[in-house]
Amino acid sequence: MAPQLPSSSPQNPELRKDIINNKWVNFSPARSKRPSDFKSKSPVSDPNQKQSQECPFCIGHEHECAPEIFRVMDDPNSPSKWRIRVIQNLYPALSRDIEPQNTGLDNPDCGVVAGFGFHDVVIETSTHPVHLFDLSGYGVGEVLMAYKKRVLQIASFDAIKYIQVFKNHGASAGASMSHSHSQIIALPIVPPAISTRLAAMKEYFEQTGNCVLCEKPPKELLIHESRHFISVVPFAASYAFEIWIIPRYHSAHFHDIDKEKANDLGGLLKLMLKKMGLQLNNPPFNFMIHTAPVRIDDAHLSCSHWYLQIVPQLTVLAGFEVATGCHINPVFPENAAKILREVNVEDTEEICREDSERS
Ligand code: AMP
Ligand code: ZN
Ligand code: ZN
Repeated sequence: MAPQLPSSSPQNPELRKDIINNKWVNFSPARSKRPSDFKSKSPVSDPNQKQSQECPFCIGHEHECAPEIFRVMDDPNSPSKWRIRVIQNLYPALSRDIEPQNTGLDNPDCGVVAGFGFHDVVIETSTHPVHLFDLSGYGVGEVLMAYKKRVLQIASFDAIKYIQVFKNHGASAGASMSHSHSQIIALPIVPPAISTRLAAMKEYFEQTGNCVLCEKPPKELLIHESRHFISVVPFAASYAFEIWIIPRYHSAHFHDIDKEKANDLGGLLKLMLKKMGLQLNNPPFNFMIHTAPVRIDDAHLSCSHWYLQIVPQLTVLAGFEVATGCHINPVFPENAAKILREVNVEDTEEICREDSERS
């Protein structure tokens, strides 16, 4: 996954290439205080009761939401006691109600395509003050299985080319609602960043004979390992304390995950969010599932590998990043990984044991 790391962390600026996304990152320790001092200056506070009375995502307020697609229940005989709801977005970025344009496998040449697509919201819990990382690992796994179910439903539309699952947590990470939720946007094109990633993974495969994310990362970058996944700070992380959770098995599409692996991933995702919250003072964050386009050929299937990226929002992107696409990261990944590895989450063993018992 990465070239050899130096034995001690460099003190001088260094440029590293993210070979998976074909981007350069500028590591600049001079722009930071000590890495261990990193804390969010705008931590996400706990939503209070007053908000919940006005919140359309809370249980009992279903009529204030756009139409439901499906729900996950505690007991099929009491459907009103739901745990997860997948609903349409009231203000969708794309419309499911217009005629899709079938442009074949490639993006249209003409540069314009009708905005057919899907924009859904996954309400991760019925209870307002509960965050995703407050659920059990098994509960997080259920949310991941809800993503899978909805992605598979959407993938059956020929015109849909790419499906993005993502979560915004906290206002400065883009969240407009404090009730725990994530979103799914399905597009009639493949965005350039995804085509670039696909091409870069293919190039690596052609040069080395290996899938870039099947290769074991240097141990200095490793945070934690579960049965089916590893969590690392990537060699050329664009953001301070960015985390990737990568399947230990080769898989191009997130939606091929099964229940046992989803439970395992649920435990690891919970653990990473807890560690990040403890170390960085409950920062706003985003996570994104980077998967392959819905329809890809066999050559791409064998060299693309999905992963989940977690980005704590600690700094704002400024002119240099916007202009060059080159991020400045003040924390070397091996330092961030060491700090995250050492953050002690009290119930780590319980999270892992509970998941393996329920799988
Ligand atoms: P975020 O902006 O990340 O917090 O995501 C919340 C999403 O929920 C936004 O995209 C809103 O358009 C959407 N939304 C807000 N209110 C409702 C509602 N009552 N029913 C369905 N979607 C909603
Ligand atoms: Zn609520
Ligand atoms: Zn692989």
